[in-house]
Amino acid sequence: MSNSIAEAISRVQAEIRAAQQRGSHAAAEVTLIAVSKTKPQEMVAEALAAGQLHFGENKVQEMVTKQAAFPQASWHMIGHLQTNKAAKAVDAACLIHSLDRPELALELEKRAAARSRLLPVLVQVNLAKEDSKSGIYEEELPDFLDLLAGLPHLQVQGLMTIGPAVDDAEEARPLFARLRELRDREDGKRGMRLHHLSMGMSGDYQVAIEEGATLVRVGSAIFGARNYNV
Ligand SMILES: *Cc1c(COP(=O)(O)O)cnc(C)c1O
Repeated sequence: MSNSIAEAISRVQAEIRAAQQRGSHAAAEVTLIAVSKTKPQEMVAEALAAGQLHFGENKVQEMVTKQAAFPQASWHMIGHLQTNKAAKAVDAACLIHSLDRPELALELEKRAAARSRLLPVLVQVNLAKEDSKSGIYEEELPDFLDLLAGLPHLQVQGLMTIGPAVDDAEEARPLFARLRELRDREDGKRGMRLHHLSMGMSGDYQVAIEEGATLVRVGSAIFGARNYNV
């Protein structure tokens, strides 16, 4: 038991390297974000001891608590962010992956400005147009980036998407490729360097890496299945 998280991390790292070698669109550098949502601090400590530095959370309060316990780690906000929790997220997150609407952008700008901080963000794109997912539609992306270009305390570093729920990860490949195409199309416009593509989870991170992911968000493949009833 005590080695299982460390073993899982090295297994995932090996899969990441293999996918980088396979994929013609693969990025030279891929960062593994260990998604520790719902998991206890002992598991975070175990991952840290195994050399894992980046962690992802989808609830602000849980991220704030874990960030305070493990300030040496980098904490990524990957979940839907309520506007009234934006200030806390600005304080605890190294990168917000889930910027998905104008009101949130304006609130984050205000909070980052008040702290004289430059806040790194990714724009979440809802490529599958699933009602259950947040994110802006790709048709809205240029206008949304225009808005963000006018907010001096937000540093847009790239795009994020959540793949569709499919049995075969190959079915998600066209969406991952599409996010890369959107990134390439918008990169360099408006003075924005859109380097990052945050895409890929436990079920599909290898395919996402082959299509150019620079950040993968892997939870259950590292920490085991989540139990939301406890
Ligand atoms: C929970 C979550 C993940 C990790 O999911 P796994 O399937 O456990 O790897 C990745 N991204 C987001 C946005 C999540 O909410």
